[in-house]
Amino acid sequence: MLSEKIQQALNRQITYEYAASYTYLAMAAYFESLSLTGFAHWFRVQSEEEREHAIRFFDYVNDRGGRVILSAIEEPRNEYASPLDAFEHALAHEQRVTASIHAIYALAVQENDYATMSMLKWFIDEQVEEEKNADEIIQHLKLIGNDGVGLLMLDRKLAERQEEDE
Ligand code: MG
Repeated sequence: MLSEKIQQALNRQITYEYAASYTYLAMAAYFESLSLTGFAHWFRVQSEEEREHAIRFFDYVNDRGGRVILSAIEEPRNEYASPLDAFEHALAHEQRVTASIHAIYALAVQENDYATMSMLKWFIDEQVEEEKNADEIIQHLKLIGNDGVGLLMLDRKLAERQEEDE
C-alpha cells in the first residue's frame, strides 16, 4: 500500500504531467499559427509523451492499491513572443517537473518506499533527456537569431521527430 503522503504527491504529479501536455499542445498551436509545422509536430509529439507520463503514474498508483484522484489542469499560456520564448518557457516547465519528481523521490526515501524510488528512477533519467533536448534547441535558436533560413532548417529537422516507444 502507498502511504497517504506518497499517494497525494503521485496524484499531484499526474496533474502536472497533464498540465505539461496541455502547455505543449498550446505551443504546437502557436507554431501552427506561424506555419512552422516542424516545430508544431515536435511539440505535438512532446504533448503526447507527457500524457504517457501521466498514465505511467496513474497505473502505478493503481498497481500499488492506491486511489487516483484527478484535479483541474491550469490554462496554458497560448501566446509567445518568439520560437525562442516558447522553448525557454518549455525548459522552465521541465525544470519544475524535475524538481517535483525529485521532491517525490525524497519523500519516498523518507518513508522507506523502495518501490516508488525504483519507479521514479525512469522519470529521473527521462528528465535529464527532456532538459537536454530543450536546452539544445534553445542554443540553436540563439545561433539562428533572426535568420529565416536557419529557422526553416531547424523546422525541417524538428519535423523528423518520431514518437518514442520506450
Ligand atoms: Mg513528463
